[in-house]
Amino acid sequence: NSIIRTEKLTKSYGRGAAATHALRGVDLEIPRGSFTAIVGPSGHGKSTLMHLLGALDRPSSGTVHLDGTDLGKLDSAGLARFRGRKIGFVFQFFNLLRGLSAAENVETAMMLSGAPPSRQAERARELLALVGLAEKAGSRPGELSGGQQQRVAIARALANDPEILMMDEPTGNLDSAAEEEIMQILLDLHSQGKTVIVVTHNPDIARRAQAVIQVQDGQIRA
Ligand code: ADP
Ligand code: ADP
Repeated sequence: NSIIRTEKLTKSYGRGAAATHALRGVDLEIPRGSFTAIVGPSGHGKSTLMHLLGALDRPSSGTVHLDGTDLGKLDSAGLARFRGRKIGFVFQFFNLLRGLSAAENVETAMMLSGAPPSRQAERARELLALVGLAEKAGSRPGELSGGQQQRVAIARALANDPEILMMDEPTGNLDSAAEEEIMQILLDLHSQGKTVIVVTHNPDIARRAQAVIQVQDGQIRA
């Protein structure tokens, strides 16, 4: 029961002799509800792979099936809708809106949900409580530590209750205590049934993942 399946996936940037072949034929399956780490040296295609798995970008060739849907069959609007429903993203550099409170940052991700504003506010508080930040709902990113900002980013990624949480180096800028807090949240989300996919250089995260995908030279090494 795979939630993601790829076949002969390639991705090149640029053309001709100057092209970078970032992915060179990737076949993989990610089981529903698993905790998967994507590891490998810098510049070998991990982020590119995550972008294709997450429907943020399209492959040069090959296919991605996400929850049974061939992403190549969707137009741009369809792809964006599908991504918004299925996947929550967390990036290394939090990408929070500086002028908004933690709660407002989470609420902005719900604007397209059609839920009434009062329900959105309530849900934002619930999600901030889930990541241990109930008391910081009114704080702006500048008033929070790096680890707290990353927890807001995780709450925001969960706003539309996605089945899959995808993260690119979520602990890249954090000290080890903050990193451990993030790791605990990811393990909790996994135990609640989310599919968690993390691109990481962090051996602690890779060691605690259920499955590790090693990317080297644009291919899966193991
Ligand atoms: P990793 O995440 O493992 O560091 P990336 O997927 O970011 O690797 O990059 C793989 C290769 O593709 C690298 O050579 C990188 O420079 C190149 N690359 C990534 N994104 C782009 C882009 N938008 N345009 C051109 N080259 C890119
Ligand atoms: P990381 O390698 O830490 O995952 P990013 O995801 O921010 O870094 O960027 C992906 C990789 O693609 C980096 O190695 C970056 O240098 C490269 N890259 C991004 N955009 C371009 C671009 N327009 N041209 C060339 N390389 C790019």
